[in-house]
Amino acid sequence: MSTVYPLDPASPAAGQVRTLLQARERKLRAEVEATRTRGASDPLRVARESTDRGEEAEAEVENGINDAEVARDVAELRAIGEALARLEAGHYGQCRDCDELIDERRLAAEAFAVRCTACQGRFEQALRQRG
Ligand SMILES: [Zn+2]
Repeated sequence: MSTVYPLDPASPAAGQVRTLLQARERKLRAEVEATRTRGASDPLRVARESTDRGEEAEAEVENGINDAEVARDVAELRAIGEALARLEAGHYGQCRDCDELIDERRLAAEAFAVRCTACQGRFEQALRQRG
């Protein structure tokens, strides 16, 4: 049986995508929580252990990396939420910007994709320009 996009929310294929996205959502939430917990304990550790400015700078770099990780996870969580909403609305597999069907290989690689490759490129470029 071939998959027809946009997915019918009641179809077995939609059920599979829903399960996949929800599992990914749980994993990311746990990661974000774990990173935040680690980050919260950092100031104490830094205060206790840092004896010179070199170590302080090192700790700041570490926090910066955590922030970037969290930002990426949060962005993906947002995309997953949107993909799930589109799934329930019967629009999954359809680009949210131009309504064209999203390449199935793209959906296979990134189940949370809500835009076709061209629109995603434009979207990311706009994000970068906004800074
Ligand atoms: Zn598009």
